[in-house]
Amino acid sequence: MSDLLDDLPDGVLVADESGSVSYLNRAAERISGWTREQAAGRPWGEVLQLRDAGGLLVHERSDPYRHRIRITTGTPEREFLLRRRDGEDRWVAVRASYRRNGDGRIEQAVVTLRDIERRRRLEKHSSDLISTVSHEIRSPLTSVKGFTSTLLRKWGEFTDEQKHHMLTMINHDADRVTRLLTDLLDVSRLEAGRLELRRQPVDIAEIARKVTARLEHETTDHEIRLTAPARLPSVSGDPGKIEQVITNLVENAIKYADPGPIVVEAGRDDGGVVVRVSDEGPGIDPQHQPHIFTKFYRRGSGERRPGTGLGLYICKGIVEAHGGRIELERSGAEGSVFAIHLPVTEE
Ligand code: ADP
Repeated sequence: MSDLLDDLPDGVLVADESGSVSYLNRAAERISGWTREQAAGRPWGEVLQLRDAGGLLVHERSDPYRHRIRITTGTPEREFLLRRRDGEDRWVAVRASYRRNGDGRIEQAVVTLRDIERRRRLEKHSSDLISTVSHEIRSPLTSVKGFTSTLLRKWGEFTDEQKHHMLTMINHDADRVTRLLTDLLDVSRLEAGRLELRRQPVDIAEIARKVTARLEHETTDHEIRLTAPARLPSVSGDPGKIEQVITNLVENAIKYADPGPIVVEAGRDDGGVVVRVSDEGPGIDPQHQPHIFTKFYRRGSGERRPGTGLGLYICKGIVEAHGGRIELERSGAEGSVFAIHLPVTEE
């Protein structure tokens, strides 16, 4: 019988008529961190330190052994935070059933435990996602709404120059929303393994040139310099996607670095080509560096510039889909250097 229960994915804990633990199956050992031997004879509330959403300990609040309600033969499944023996907390779904004698006293209680930590984490993750995305959509939309309603109400009161300025802001904010939605689509494609690459021979120096020329007009604080040889071996890749990656790196440099030069350098590399984007910004603290390519990661919670933390994650996905790699080569007080390496197909 107990061997059979060991095969169950759910934890099973049995307590006797005094509320002492008499049995734990293997899954219950794994979930609670208690071994059968350690738990045997201990009060169930010590082995299962379950807290409800309000932080109250379940066995103190409603111990079925103490508060004798004759009619209950069990409890429906509920979710609690379990403090494991090693002190770690994890979410579990718990259901109890009681066998009572003629006076209503519990003779045996069987508690089942299901580890729902992963599901809870996913739920938390998607609610974080919803709040980040909502915020990122709401702020440009608020500005679009503000400018358009002002223009509609007081069109005649503004000079052409003022109207032009407001329409430029509206245009910019609408682009921001479109960009965000494109990013989200990219993320879902990357995660489903369905990022489509329209491959063709690509000259990355040409793409670097195009990005530099375009972004130069978008910043007055930074001078964007390009160094690229006249000819580089071509890469088999999707030119639009590679442009997206280089654009993202340069835009990050514009966004996060103090005024100063940004250098885009395309060149040869062992068996491939490389594009480096260097800035003279404040750099990224060593503690944040390992995480910057992670989805939704932004430098600490103190990051005030707008963003979702998706940019570098998408860049990594695109570069890796091309068989290449992206790295933060260097980052410190003198600035940051990001590099993308791509394999070449023909010399
Ligand atoms: P986002 O810009 O939307 O926050 P990214 O994935 O592009 O997302 O970047 C992740 C984080 O890495 C940023 O929040 C920022 O803190 C940091 N970062 C990226 N590029 C730079 C840079 N050139 N200089 C300093 N910090 C940077």
